[in-house]
Amino acid sequence: MSAKRNPARELLFGDLWEYDPAPETAKAFIDERYGLFINGKFVAPKTKKYFDSISPRNEQKLAEIALAGSSDVDAAYQAATTAFKSWSKLPGTERAKYLFRIARLLQDRAREFAVAETLDGGKPIKESRDFDVPMAAAHFFYHAGWADKLDHVTPGRTLAPLGVIGQVIPWNFPLLMLAWKIAPALATGNTVVLKPAETTSITALKFATILQDAGLPPGVVNFVTGAGETGSAVVNHPLAAKIAFTGSTAVGKAIQRALAGTGKRLTLELGGKAANIVFEDAPIDQAVEGIINGIFFNQGHVCCAGSRLLVQESVAAAVLAKLKIRLRSLRTGDPLDKNTDVGAINSKAQLARIQALVAVGVAEGAEIYQADCNLPEKGWYFPPTLFSNVSQSHSIAREEIFGPVLSILTFRTPEEAVEKANNTHYGLSAGVWTDKGSRILKMSTELKAGVVWANSFNKFDPTSPFGGFKESGFGREGGKQGLLDYAQLV
Ligand code: NAD
Repeated sequence: MSAKRNPARELLFGDLWEYDPAPETAKAFIDERYGLFINGKFVAPKTKKYFDSISPRNEQKLAEIALAGSSDVDAAYQAATTAFKSWSKLPGTERAKYLFRIARLLQDRAREFAVAETLDGGKPIKESRDFDVPMAAAHFFYHAGWADKLDHVTPGRTLAPLGVIGQVIPWNFPLLMLAWKIAPALATGNTVVLKPAETTSITALKFATILQDAGLPPGVVNFVTGAGETGSAVVNHPLAAKIAFTGSTAVGKAIQRALAGTGKRLTLELGGKAANIVFEDAPIDQAVEGIINGIFFNQGHVCCAGSRLLVQESVAAAVLAKLKIRLRSLRTGDPLDKNTDVGAINSKAQLARIQALVAVGVAEGAEIYQADCNLPEKGWYFPPTLFSNVSQSHSIAREEIFGPVLSILTFRTPEEAVEKANNTHYGLSAGVWTDKGSRILKMSTELKAGVVWANSFNKFDPTSPFGGFKESGFGREGGKQGLLDYAQLV
């Protein structure tokens, strides 16, 4: 402990103490330069071009990443097509062994992967260590369990793989999104060409070394790195049997248009603007924790973040007061510090987007509250923010901000809560806080959201299908439903 005074802690706990920094010390083992991972090997890109991966924590360059052009993407698809011939014929028990091995190797290197994920993406180490990496391993374990039991998914029918799957993922959960995509594809006998997001390619490329160590046959999984143009080459390649995309609604719509009439399968996991609904009979302190976790987890870079709080009018003032106190105790800063609750914003561009939307919120007349916090001088950071007096027509109640910003609206009746919650073009998730079980059941049938959490928020499990309604996309990831999206019935 140091003698530095922390007014927020003083107010909460009456003490004068502030924690000393507690940086994670495990090594991330990041190479200076990464090639593309094609046919089981790292290869130089035919474009001969590389781009920098910058740490949002301090704006320092972490590594050079290969820029894949269309001929590199083609090489990856050729490798995956060749590999599909034998991989798809392997008995499920054999595929399961590879998946188990991958999961165990990831567990062995969990600390290293957590640090790499935090350096590359900016999320707090306690989240990459306790959520992203263990959950990624859990997806491989879960799907390893399914690989030899596919006959039980649809009794009496046989599930057959689709072929080569083109997968494009975003930057908010780089390793976890990779696991969500690769594990079910491999369990069902498909092969993969995956493109990570351009700001967060490092853990995918480190993961390639796990695939090598697991002895996965060459070409079963291929990684091509780059930005939108590379993604477009992955999506439009004629050898793709299916495209699985997670990212923004705008890009998802463009992909849907591009694939229309091609016969390729498509699943889209897109944006969200989730309502987190608190009734007056809810356990308020527990709900406040759920609200904080719902919006500030991963700096609010969460597609299913509870970014719209709908609170019943009779308890609105009490909830807001408690939220302000809780906000003051959040530690925002160096994501590598084990005490940090809110880390760095993933990129300069995302920070600019958050700043612009917050400015619109202020200009449109919503009331802003930000706790004092000493943000690091270098790196991209944004203080946790609350907006009260928000109405349905405000941009901050409609647009996905994808940052640590909560918009607070009120309601009087359950009907009004449902109407406001569903008044969005998104439909990915929602939360309901109430003491009444019957109300939870009624609300969850009326809310147009793929996931509805009851007296909790942001809870995930590989056995539980995840996906959206409306402009949040279609298709499911996880559970039996997720397997069906990677297979055909024969
Ligand atoms: P984005 O759409 O800009 O990028 C996602 C990926 O698509 C990146 O890899 C990017 O390089 C690639 N890409 C960009 N243009 C492309 C194109 N024309 N063709 C093919 N690929 C292209 O989204 P983002 O900013 O990286 O991620 C944030 C978005 O992702 C948010 O809207 C968030 O809600 C959404 N998201 C959804 C889920 C979900 O499960 N529903 C999960 C995580 C993130």
